[in-house]
Amino acid sequence: MNRTDRKLHALAAAADQHLLDPMAGFVDLAGIREAVEDLAKAFAPLGRVQHTVAAKACGLAPVLRYLADLGVDAEVASPGETAVAEAAGIRGPRLVLDSPAKTVAELAHALAEGTAVNADNFQELARLDDLVGDSPRSVLGLRINPQVGAGRIGDTSTATTTSKFGIPLRDNRTRVVEAFARRPWLTRLHVHVGSQGCPPELMADGVAAVHGLAEEINARAGRRQVTSLDLGGGLPVNFASEDPGPTYAEYVATLLAKVPALADGRYTFVTEFGRSLLAKNGFLVSTVEYTKVAGGRPIAVTHAGAQVAARTVLQPEHWPLRLTALDAAGRPKTGPDVAQDIAGPLCFAGDLLAKERPLPLLEPGDLVVAHDTGAYYFGAHYAYNTLPRPAVHGFTVSARGHVEFTPIRRAQSIAELVADAGGEYVGALPRA
Ligand SMILES: *Cc1c(COP(=O)(O)O)cnc(C)c1O
Repeated sequence: MNRTDRKLHALAAAADQHLLDPMAGFVDLAGIREAVEDLAKAFAPLGRVQHTVAAKACGLAPVLRYLADLGVDAEVASPGETAVAEAAGIRGPRLVLDSPAKTVAELAHALAEGTAVNADNFQELARLDDLVGDSPRSVLGLRINPQVGAGRIGDTSTATTTSKFGIPLRDNRTRVVEAFARRPWLTRLHVHVGSQGCPPELMADGVAAVHGLAEEINARAGRRQVTSLDLGGGLPVNFASEDPGPTYAEYVATLLAKVPALADGRYTFVTEFGRSLLAKNGFLVSTVEYTKVAGGRPIAVTHAGAQVAARTVLQPEHWPLRLTALDAAGRPKTGPDVAQDIAGPLCFAGDLLAKERPLPLLEPGDLVVAHDTGAYYFGAHYAYNTLPRPAVHGFTVSARGHVEFTPIRRAQSIAELVADAGGEYVGALPRA
């Protein structure tokens, strides 16, 4: 059964089991398994590759655990992501720590655990000098900004001339080579050109830059000091249709066309994909609470707004989502398309999942599906209006169409919202 058919079965079953009141996220476990298989197969020509998932794309512990069971480790970038990954049983060398703002405590924890660290800048390297000791258990690397330029979306382009991430290579090449010459424990280079909107060719330019740098460092050292290259993530996803967009196989072909030496066995590799592993394997469903017409425009008010789709709501030109209208039983609605606004519940006028979107006219009790939201949506909440995080369910579908749901996260409770809002300190302020 393909992904689209699994989704249709899951939607009908979710409606039948009342899982959509008023909103929930869903994760297609078979889809994740297929994505991991595609990933592993595509990178096989590169030899030894440690695949990790970027935890920020979907930092839900059961999802990280499911991926870990499929052989995918985790890339983490904060104490919270680290703790969630460790709670999911992924720790030590199965974690890669990347972040531009690692504290001494985070670095010390990673070194004690044997977790790989990619230092972001020269000041962090100086901190590591004081912490590493003689023979660190962690693989230690340096994040390079290859300064190869921006993709289509400024916010997610990390290899611009002035990006905040990594050490800008064009400005610092000699200093980087010297930094490695002085630190025999530095054995990895890391590059992540961007996330969504960066074409595979641009990503390959970044990889070519760090490969060339590794060769230069090793020539200067007179030994193979740099032994691994962390290639980051960033493969874009096609949000316009059910088709996935560039495949991992196409990306690896692009990499090898630009740098054939990647397959010569002299380096091992790390990958850190997030969106391309997960986006197509998740979707969000909300009930339509009310409908109205304003200035001639039909509006459907749902429960899915910026709290679960911050980027789509705040930058609709960059992050449009495909939406489908379903009836209350979870079946696709028929009828002529009518341009309507699909609104969220937040109290600002721009809280729209889509503007003037042609869909069969929605009525109260109908459902709206936001597709391709398995990465960076229901796993990355925005706390506006004290709205709760929705429940997330994993699902599998048998060959005969039977759907099995497994809980991934329950909806946040009202008591938890009160606690998050400082509830324990009510009465602690001085009397006004
Ligand atoms: C966000 C990020 C990733 C994952 O990017 P995707 O576009 O989700 O694949 C990988 N590595 C680093 C360092 C990141 O910041």
